[in-house]
Amino acid sequence: MSLAEKLAQERRARLAAERLLELKQAELTDANRKLGRHALALTKRIGATQAEIATFRDENEKVKSDLNTANEKVEQAERRLWHSIQAFQDGFAFFDSNSKLIGANTAYLNIFEGVEEVAPGVSYVRILQVLTDEGLIDTEELSADAWRAMMTDRWMSPAPEPTVIRLWNDRYLKLIDQRGHDGDIVSLALDITATVHYEEELRAARERAEAANRAKSAFLANMSHEIRTPMNGVVGMAELLNDTNLTEEQRLYANTIKNSGEALLVIINDVLDYSKIEAEKLVLHPEPFDLEACMHEVVMLLQANARDKGLTLLVDYDLFMPTNFIGDPGRIRQILTNLIGNAVKFTIEGSVTLRVTGVPHPEDNTVMLHISIEDTGIGIPEDKIQHIFGEFNQVEDATNRQFEGTGLGLAITERLIKMMDGDIWVESEFGKGSCFGFRIPLVEADGGNVSTPELPEHLRCVMIVDDMEINREILNRQLQRLGLEVVPVANGAEALEAMSDKIDLVITDRNLPGMDGLKLARSLRQSWQALPVMLLSSDPADTRDPSIKEIFAGVLQKPLPRGALFAALSALDPTAASAPVAAPAEASAPAPAPTEASPAPRPGGDRRLMRVLAAEDNRTNQLVFRKMVKDLNIELQFANNGQEAVDLYQSFAPDLIFMDISMPKMDGKQATQAIRALEQAGGGRVQIVALTAHAMDGDSEGILAAGLDDYLTKPLRKALIHERIMTNVPGDVAPLVMLDGEMRATA
Ligand code: ADP
Repeated sequence: MSLAEKLAQERRARLAAERLLELKQAELTDANRKLGRHALALTKRIGATQAEIATFRDENEKVKSDLNTANEKVEQAERRLWHSIQAFQDGFAFFDSNSKLIGANTAYLNIFEGVEEVAPGVSYVRILQVLTDEGLIDTEELSADAWRAMMTDRWMSPAPEPTVIRLWNDRYLKLIDQRGHDGDIVSLALDITATVHYEEELRAARERAEAANRAKSAFLANMSHEIRTPMNGVVGMAELLNDTNLTEEQRLYANTIKNSGEALLVIINDVLDYSKIEAEKLVLHPEPFDLEACMHEVVMLLQANARDKGLTLLVDYDLFMPTNFIGDPGRIRQILTNLIGNAVKFTIEGSVTLRVTGVPHPEDNTVMLHISIEDTGIGIPEDKIQHIFGEFNQVEDATNRQFEGTGLGLAITERLIKMMDGDIWVESEFGKGSCFGFRIPLVEADGGNVSTPELPEHLRCVMIVDDMEINREILNRQLQRLGLEVVPVANGAEALEAMSDKIDLVITDRNLPGMDGLKLARSLRQSWQALPVMLLSSDPADTRDPSIKEIFAGVLQKPLPRGALFAALSALDPTAASAPVAAPAEASAPAPAPTEASPAPRPGGDRRLMRVLAAEDNRTNQLVFRKMVKDLNIELQFANNGQEAVDLYQSFAPDLIFMDISMPKMDGKQATQAIRALEQAGGGRVQIVALTAHAMDGDSEGILAAGLDDYLTKPLRKALIHERIMTNVPGDVAPLVMLDGEMRATA
């Protein structure tokens, strides 16, 4: 190759290399540019990420600091709570569901007097063990084992009852344990030492007060006895004085003595009863008794008062209701006396009506009795109605001030009714009248209930003549329930007009406007000779009045016990219009003795007299007793002491004995026991009625336990003495009540 060719070849090679280099340079530049762009993008992204990271970091810092604050707060709250728990005077602890102690305050731990074992982690059972082992607890009558068993049982129960424990140092803790949902238990040990001591002091004070009250009660009972005995003489003598020939002035004095004495006795009884109820010393003495008879006794005693004031006293005893119940007759009598007595006292004109109904509950043999006493009296202002049941409370205004009273009657009545599981209410309209009602459940007693009478065949239609609508209504209902037709009229003129052949009997009130009952009977006689007419009267003297006896077929004493009405109707003789109707009250419904209209044989006649023995050491009381029975055709003997009573029981063979309880030599109870012993030897059993001045409860029990059958409380009441005699008349004696005034008691 030539040089030129070589040179050309080299040049071509150099040129090619230069072109390649250029190419490579261009490629490199391009790559460089791309790399630059990429690096820029990357840098940007890194920048953004870094910013994000910074933000996160900031936020993180903030959360961290917030968390710290919150934690601090929680810790602070916890500290405070714990401080408060520590500050408790009372013990506080929590246990987990396995009964392990989680924590307790100092007061709780102090109970354990520094026993180190009692710390978080200890079990409740172990705590109980520590308490007994260390003698920290007074388990009283329980052994340590028994006490722990009892406490463990309690702890395990789902809702432990609070309990009180006593520590060795006479501190009392009340344990209250509350179980949570998760089984944890919060335990409180409240220190109630002060309360317990206070209660003990109160109890001691109450015992002292009760002892004082008992002493007061006994004192009152004795005092009442001491006052009653002489008062018996005062009241009884004043009553007898009234039966003698007196000038008006003397009668006024005698009446004042009697009324003051009786008023004083009422007050003594009220105060005595009230203090007994207060001292919770009053107990009821349930026994079988006749409710209707009991009501009539009360009504009889209040009748005189009502009559003096011109008031009509009516009893509406549901005809088909039983009369024999088990209850405390003395207290029921007292309730009725208070309520009927008030009604009579606060009524100036009109009537007082006693209504008795009952709802039987055969399943337990009880009857829910409803008794209401309605009057047409002064009424009670509405704002005073609740006030009157309080003790010593009376309606204080001009209308009321004229009436006497202690203001204790209703307070006692209400409490007695409550004691009998009953309740009392009152409705009243000021100026118009009041109605007091009460309800008591009584168990029905067997037998003796008034049975509906067998009426004479011919008796179908009865005319009632009474101007008082309520009286007509009561009698009307009673007669209708006996199946009789009734023609009720309001006065004599109406009676004469309504008369017809169909009427078989006329029952007329005595006091009627225009023509009174007597005149009506005489008029009727002119055209209807054979028609029997009966007189309704509230004056016992009418039963003895021969002129009345002549025209009437019988006298019915108001208020009329059902038994007496039944007896009068049953005994009605169709042939004899004016034959006196014997209307003896049945034993279950005694009527006052003087009202009994029996045929009139002479004293004795061919029959012996009833023999009554009265054992009474006090001469005055003997005199009072003698005078009280002077109207009765009986043979009376007195014994001056118990020994004489026993002797006379043998020689005189009495049909009935009245026995004073406190007598010299041998008291009434001993004498009765002696008589009962003699009776064992042979012969029947004589009725012995105690006469007692004791008003204290429990007395009656002692008396009945001694063998006496019954008792009367002094001062003696003529009506009650008569009633006791009348209910014990033997079959073979001469009638006790004479109709021609020749009654006497032979001594
Ligand atoms: P006392 O009759 O001894 O005053 P009570 O406790 O029996 O006491 O009666 C309290 C008061 O209730 C009476 O004073 C009287 O104001 C009033 N009160 C009771 N019963 C009646 C009644 N039937 N009519 C009007 N007021 C009555």
